[in-house]
Amino acid sequence: MTRRKLIAGNWKMNGLKADGVALASAVAGKYKALADKKFDMFIAPPFTILGAVADAAKDSGVWVGAQDCSQFEKGAHTGDVSPTMLKDLGCGGVIVGHSERRTDHGETDALVKEKASAALKAGLGVIICIGETLAERDAGKTLDVVGRQVHGSLPAESTAGRVVIAYEPVWAIGTGKTPTTEDVEEVHAFIRGQIAEVLGADMAEKMQILYGGSVKPSNAKELLALADVDGALIGGASLKAEDFWAIAETQM
Ligand code: PEP
Repeated sequence: MTRRKLIAGNWKMNGLKADGVALASAVAGKYKALADKKFDMFIAPPFTILGAVADAAKDSGVWVGAQDCSQFEKGAHTGDVSPTMLKDLGCGGVIVGHSERRTDHGETDALVKEKASAALKAGLGVIICIGETLAERDAGKTLDVVGRQVHGSLPAESTAGRVVIAYEPVWAIGTGKTPTTEDVEEVHAFIRGQIAEVLGADMAEKMQILYGGSVKPSNAKELLALADVDGALIGGASLKAEDFWAIAETQM
């Protein structure tokens, strides 16, 4: 079946208001001008400029979201931001379980699942990140790890269109290294099988699985053409409008 491609940018902890609005406006303007939008676009700026970026991208068709959210709706959780607050700000979605959150903040699969559930309940789309470390890959445990992450992080109420899985080998993030195309195909096919175990074969067939980790204009076309790769989650290259757009252009 044909699944729509999603080109998603994760700005991480980068961008002050003026730069972020300029970057979002450049991308949103180009996307809005496309007569035939053959793919979807998502950008995740830092919390501090989410409102300004959501305004800049309004009515362009570009989906704006956060890089994380609380598992709680409200209450005594100092410093946290709830999915309802994100919705209120004009967000359409949220990334959960990014490896930097799993590593820096000790986020577990169970917590990622709670966050994804809370986001779905608030009416947001969710990108759930999974991926193995270099030590896990070297130990031959890649499929064990991603299988456990799918089963542990994907809420049972997930549906295609509302939930996207992003496979991001941790050792490929921000390093310039990427797995071989054969490895990407093998892991994505395996992930789809794992989604089928949780949600059924029909839902698994429809669900988008993104690849993330050092995607850039020079390798995007090849990676995005692989079986079971339904888009990309892009960090560094999403911070430059020309590079992010050049990746998007591979899908026109
Ligand atoms: C990411 O942060 O999700 C990511 C894939 O980063 P980069 O593209 O810089 O490797």
